[in-house]
Amino acid sequence: MIGYGSQGHAHALNLHDSGIKVMVGLYEGSASRQVARDAGLAVGSVAEVAKEAEIMMVAIPDHVQKDVYRDEIEPNLGPGKALMFAHGFTIHYQFVVPPPTVDVLMIAPKAPGHRMREHFVEQGIGVPCLLAVHQDATGNAKNIGLAYASGIGCARAGVLETTFKDETESDLFGEQSVLCGGVTALINLAFETLVERGYPPEIAYFECLHELKMIVDLIQQGGFNYMRYSVSDTAEYGDLTRGTRVVDDHVRENMNRVLDDIQSGAFAKEWMAECDEGRHNFLRLRQEARTSRIHEVGRGLREMMPWMNPREIE
Ligand code: NAP
Ligand code: MG
Repeated sequence: MIGYGSQGHAHALNLHDSGIKVMVGLYEGSASRQVARDAGLAVGSVAEVAKEAEIMMVAIPDHVQKDVYRDEIEPNLGPGKALMFAHGFTIHYQFVVPPPTVDVLMIAPKAPGHRMREHFVEQGIGVPCLLAVHQDATGNAKNIGLAYASGIGCARAGVLETTFKDETESDLFGEQSVLCGGVTALINLAFETLVERGYPPEIAYFECLHELKMIVDLIQQGGFNYMRYSVSDTAEYGDLTRGTRVVDDHVRENMNRVLDDIQSGAFAKEWMAECDEGRHNFLRLRQEARTSRIHEVGRGLREMMPWMNPREIE
């Protein structure tokens, strides 16, 4: 296991619990070295793990994979080894081009690492995952992927076969247009609209942000139909007649342009350049978002709701 963060710790511990011999590779000075040791795992440098292991999962941040691969993994990547990823970004956009003598495959669990570990510990199953084979040098790459999916528990939930291209592009599109980008922009715009028209920010926060989770839970459990069945007829009529007035064909057009940048590699190139140049723009945007009005109002309200286990990132 290369890395012991959100994905790495969950994969490593699930595999370990499944009786697989696991060694964790981390840089000198990483605080996670001791955490992994305390969990009973062997720890070494990335180069040591790359030398020892037959099967490697690259669970370090996407933007550092290129350099770590070049410096520590590639020199130790003997023929017949399997190089695995949890997201297709680095391979699909060719920031890493492994030699033709190794298997290159992906197991991408469809959940944050901590949820995946919780599921495994509490319910004995993993979360659904995607399997993709980019390069099959040994003729055994898919079997390795399925075995790995069994080891981390995901095969007990479900394995969907896909390609690096489809996983990477759909994953980026999903997080940009809905899961992270779209949903936060929608919440923020609705919040700002109410506040600018004189409604109390606390009310705007509850209506546009706090209640969203309950709606999303219903949608996840039973689709739009179950959500609409559960809300009032007034809410359902407003939904059916006003939803596409808010999110109209302009938004479809914008989504297509966002997908164009993903498909052409423009987004990947921009993001890697941002990382190479010290992330100044990214850090400024992050700071602006962290000090916005909805953040200030939300923090005050969450303080008054200790039962929902509020977490504040400054
Ligand atoms: P993460 O939580 O940021 O963890 C990164 C880990 O890599 C940490 O243990 C970190 O060390 C270590 N690391 C950082 N730089 C390193 C270096 N130069 N050499 C060795 N180790 C280094 O990352 P993540 O979110 O798990 O993402 C890992 C991969 O999983 C990515 O490809 C991502 O796209 C994919 N993925 C993530 C999720 C998710 O739930 N987050 C879901 C699906 C797929 P420290 O512990 O010292 O910080
Ligand atoms: Mg994603």
